[in-house]
Amino acid sequence: GKDPVTVLVTGAAGQIGYALVPMIARGEMLGPDQPVIIHMLDIEAAADSLNGVKMELIDAALPLLKGVVATTDVVEACSGVEVAVMVGGFPRKEGMERKDVMSKNVSIYKAHAAALGQHAAPHCKVLVVANPANTNALILKEFAPSIPEKNITCLTRLDHNRALGQISEKLDADVSDVKNVIVWGNHSSSQYPDATHATVNTVAGEKSARELIADDKWLKGEFVARVQERGAVIIKARKMSSALSAASAACDHMRDWLLGTPKGSWVSMGVCSDGSYGIPAGLVYSFPVTCHNGQWSIVKGLKIDEFSREKMDISAKELMEEKTLAYSCLN
Ligand code: NDP
Repeated sequence: GKDPVTVLVTGAAGQIGYALVPMIARGEMLGPDQPVIIHMLDIEAAADSLNGVKMELIDAALPLLKGVVATTDVVEACSGVEVAVMVGGFPRKEGMERKDVMSKNVSIYKAHAAALGQHAAPHCKVLVVANPANTNALILKEFAPSIPEKNITCLTRLDHNRALGQISEKLDADVSDVKNVIVWGNHSSSQYPDATHATVNTVAGEKSARELIADDKWLKGEFVARVQERGAVIIKARKMSSALSAASAACDHMRDWLLGTPKGSWVSMGVCSDGSYGIPAGLVYSFPVTCHNGQWSIVKGLKIDEFSREKMDISAKELMEEKTLAYSCLN
């Protein structure tokens, strides 16, 4: 069989981590025939809980799981990893200033960048989940120069999947028949979920979602708001943030990146901008991408209307501001 791939999950004792590690160990991230070794990192305060997760993984007797390491040592965690999912981060606590949260995360991601740069496999692929996800990924990219910038991404796939879900509900269509929505920008409330180019597979062939919905007011208003606010709605319902859907989206992101997107369809990923669509080069921004042979590429040449242009620029501006704030935290 195949050699195992070593996967790092940081913040693995948290609630997304708890949903994510069994998915990885069942082949949902790297494929049903790919053995894995899972490295789980968390902070000292979560060490006992992390060990508990390790015991549960062992008790699940998962055939693809060839090893599991639970550690609070960043160097041990990063050693030899080929896939890294960064879920660990400092949460926004009540009354905390944006700058204080940013400052905590900048120092975490700077340290993680150094450890990954020195100890991970040189071709390691990184997915940042922890918020502020785009800016944490930007810091990782800046402080791990030995890792190619194309290998550092952040998660907007949950927003993308939420957009698919909203359209499928609206049209009473199977979610697997809906494709090519786009989430542009920051994984924050400034993100822009865009259904302009989305299509739906119907008995009469592939149709434009926009034409089928025939309600531009809904697409520009309620649809956008529902996707942007879905996280908050789930927190209200569950009294905890979304975890299973975030973990599932992380698997989708990595699987499509490594194994490829189906012909004719794209997904949304936070990636380093090359200046496409007028988004400042170097920003980590969510774009529509296709993946092939383990490489993503931004879908080019989509027609952008005035409404979309404005929304895309607002999110880019927010990311520029986050970048400035992050840099001001570096000293
Ligand atoms: P979660 O597992 O719920 O969330 C982890 C991160 O993912 C948070 O940054 C969170 O951002 C983000 N996130 C949550 N929901 C979504 C979503 N729907 N889409 C995208 N991102 C999302 O948090 P826990 O507190 O349960 O776990 C965090 C773990 O990290 C803990 O085990 C903690 O010990 C560890 N940790 C590690 C640190 C380190 O590595 N040095 C520092 C601090 C904590 P948001 O807060 O905005 O929801």
